[in-house]
Formats: sequence, structure tokens, C-alpha cells
Amino acid sequence: MVEQWCIRVPSRQGEETRQALLREGALDTSLKVLHDGDMLILPVLSEREGAVRYEFESHPGREPLPRHELVGGIAILQEDDVTGAAKILASRPSLHTAVYAKGEVSGEYRTREFAILAGTPTTRTQITEHGHRFTVDLAGAYFSARLSTERQRILAHVEEDEMILDMFAGVGPFAITLAAKAVFIVASDINPQAIVLMLENIAQNRVKNVLPMLADARRLAEILPWKFDRIVMNLPLAGTEFLQEAFRLCRPGGMIHFYSVVSAKGEHTHRVQELGGVVLFEREVRSYSPGHWHVVYDVQVEKE
Ligand code: SAM
Repeated sequence: MVEQWCIRVPSRQGEETRQALLREGALDTSLKVLHDGDMLILPVLSEREGAVRYEFESHPGREPLPRHELVGGIAILQEDDVTGAAKILASRPSLHTAVYAKGEVSGEYRTREFAILAGTPTTRTQITEHGHRFTVDLAGAYFSARLSTERQRILAHVEEDEMILDMFAGVGPFAITLAAKAVFIVASDINPQAIVLMLENIAQNRVKNVLPMLADARRLAEILPWKFDRIVMNLPLAGTEFLQEAFRLCRPGGMIHFYSVVSAKGEHTHRVQELGGVVLFEREVRSYSPGHWHVVYDVQVEKE
């Protein structure tokens, strides 16, 4: 038996979901799909929203592949395993590179160091997400496909005439997604490489209402002449340091989507109230480490 991530879906949606996972390259085809009553349990190659760990039987003759995560055409292995990397590349023609993550996401730019194990020697790749195409460079700027559901959730709240600020925009996935509805978005980041990639992404998605900005979020309230209807704050480990800044930049009655890593529900509610806000909603995005969760708070700034 092999432990793997999986998602559970009602059997009647099973085949449709299996096909979608196959197209995405996310289904672990080395393992047998399981049935549990009316539910189908589909093994997936990496953690995703709603995924849990489960024990699976391998398909005879199909060797389980080493644990890895897929980001566009790149497989990220947790082990420095050249043979495993070659097997992963051979198993999926859509992949061009296999890398080993030498360390954790770290530093101000929230990037990781990688060693190339097989394939084209690059950390650049293309990602398709809900009809958008993003160029990312795993070593140069942060990107996480795990937040795609969050981007769609926020998009559903955006109204046509909104001015939005993305304070920690990275290569632009939130800003470019929300640009479909908002009137204008300022997307700032302190990492110059993220801004260069964001410009590429703005161009390739033909977006015309995002202003990329190389800036330290600490200075935005003194630089920008606007108050925003909505602010996205996706810097989970240090977001609280910038919360006051976000309140200065948000109009009364506006909304702040504040991501954080917490060890208890309601951890930031008091701070939000102190600053003049109300937590309308708190949701776990995913587990982060034992006893810690990556959560999002939807915060409304009090009306004057
Ligand atoms: N929102 C993007 C996404 O979802 O892909 C990127 C989020 S990443 C967790 C945080 C980003 O904040 C990084 O791109 C990093 O360079 C940027 N950052 C860190 N400190 C910053 C600061 N003081 N001012 C502006 N950006 C900052």
C-alpha cells in the first residue's frame, strides 16, 4: 500500500473529475482509484484544496512515481532523485523539466532554490489557470497554483466599478484574474523579477487595467493617491505587519482579503477590531504545518 493525496467526489461526478485531473496531469495513474459507498477516491500527485492523505494499492506493473508536485511543465521532487525524475518525465509528455527543491520558501521574495534533475535546464514554465496563462519562474518569484480557488472566490465578489490594490502581487495571478471585473488594479511587489514576469503576464493575457508597481508595501500609503474598494494581502507569514497600512489604503466600507498563518481560529480578530474593521469571514485555505493553518480573513473596514 502507498500513502498519497486524494480527493473524494460523488461517484456520479467521478468520471468527469477523473478526466479533468488527467488533463491537468494531476491524477496519480500509478495507483488504483477506490470506491467508498457513493464516493470515488481519486489519488492526486500533490496537495490541493480539499485533499487528504489516503492509502492506495498500486496498479500491477506500474511503479509508483516518487512524490512530486506539478507546476506547469515542471515536476518538483522532494528528494534529490535523478532516476525518479527521469521516470516522471517519461510518464508525462507535457513535462519539460524535473527539479529538486533544495530548501523551503524563504526570504523577502518568498522564493526557493532548485537543482535541475532532468529535462530542460530551466525553472521557467507556463501555467494555465481558469482561462489565464501565467509565465512563472519558480526560482525567481513566488507562485502557488493552490490559491486558484481563492482567486475565483474573490473574483465572484468583485463589482464592475471597483479599484483594487494587490499589495503583494508576485507575478500577478490575483491582479490579472480580478482585472476581468474591476475597473483598475494596482499590483505592487518588492521583487523586480516578479514585476518583469507580471508585465509578461499582463501582455499575454491582454489585460489593460493593471498597473504593475515595484514598491515596498510599507510605502504605498504615502505614494498612492487613491483609496481602494478592495485590497488583497497575500503575505501569510508577515501580513499582520502590513495590516495597518492596508487600513490606511482602503476606503471606509471597503474590503481587505488578508491571508495569514495561524494556530487558532480568530487569532487576528482582536487586531482587526482595534484597527476599525470587522471580520466577516474566516476560512482555512490549507493546512500549513502541524498545528498551523493558512487562512484568509475577509475584513470590512468600518464605514465612517
Ligand atoms: N500574490 C502572489 C501570488 O499569489 O502568487 C504572491 C504572493 S507571495 C506569498 C508574497 C509576495 O510579496 C512575494 O512576491 C514577495 O516578493 C512580496 N513581498 C514581500 N515583502 C514585500 C514588501 N515589503 N512589499 C511588497 N512586496 C513584498
